[in-house]
Amino acid sequence: STAYRLDRFISKYTEHSLSDVRLLVAQKRILVDGVAADSIRQRITKFTHVVLDEVCLNHNKPVYLMLNKPKGTVSATKDNKHTTVLDLIDHPQKAGLHIVGRLDFNTTGLVLLTNDGAWSRQVSLPATKLAKTYLVTLAQPLSDEYVSVFAQGIYFAYENITTQPAGLEILDTYTARLSLVEGKYHQVKRMFGFFDNEVLTLNRTHVGTIALGDLALGASRELTADEVKTLA
Ligand code: URA
Repeated sequence: STAYRLDRFISKYTEHSLSDVRLLVAQKRILVDGVAADSIRQRITKFTHVVLDEVCLNHNKPVYLMLNKPKGTVSATKDNKHTTVLDLIDHPQKAGLHIVGRLDFNTTGLVLLTNDGAWSRQVSLPATKLAKTYLVTLAQPLSDEYVSVFAQGIYFAYENITTQPAGLEILDTYTARLSLVEGKYHQVKRMFGFFDNEVLTLNRTHVGTIALGDLALGASRELTADEVKTLA
């Protein structure tokens, strides 16, 4: 059956790309049958035991989860001070999961996790232009001007980019639904920052057609086969 080069194998099961693997090897973070890997070309078969950062990567079935992230949790797999989204997951294969699209510390809502590297890269690819939908509450009143400015895009000097057209629906004076097809650093806060309006709460309700629904805060569930398929 199939044999993989180590770099292809790592990119298949983790968030790391093919080109990351040379560094992972140099850092001795990969063990192949108990020995630090010394080449990205090492052959991996179904009998080989591959460990990255102390997590066994193979002999795993693909896993796709959604989590309703609470406030005050970190979108990381490890953190010394705070609860991570991985800490909230109770799944036999949780150690091999990575996060698809991080949320800030105090942002709540829909976070996807998987051990399927091809799927997470497809979902995150800028060209996929998958819509991420947020409910936002603001410190200052909203106005129709926001709708046209967000539709046109806002210049971010640091990255030297203009944000892609974003859909804003004003729900009432202080709340809105925002739909973005990209995810720059602190993007929602910076977009409202253009109007000096502070984001008080931020909740991601959808990624593409996948909806958080009534999943309780802190709870997680497996995606359905249809949900997995609609994203990639
Ligand atoms: N934009 C933000 O500012 N924060 C998030 O967590 C997500 C999008």
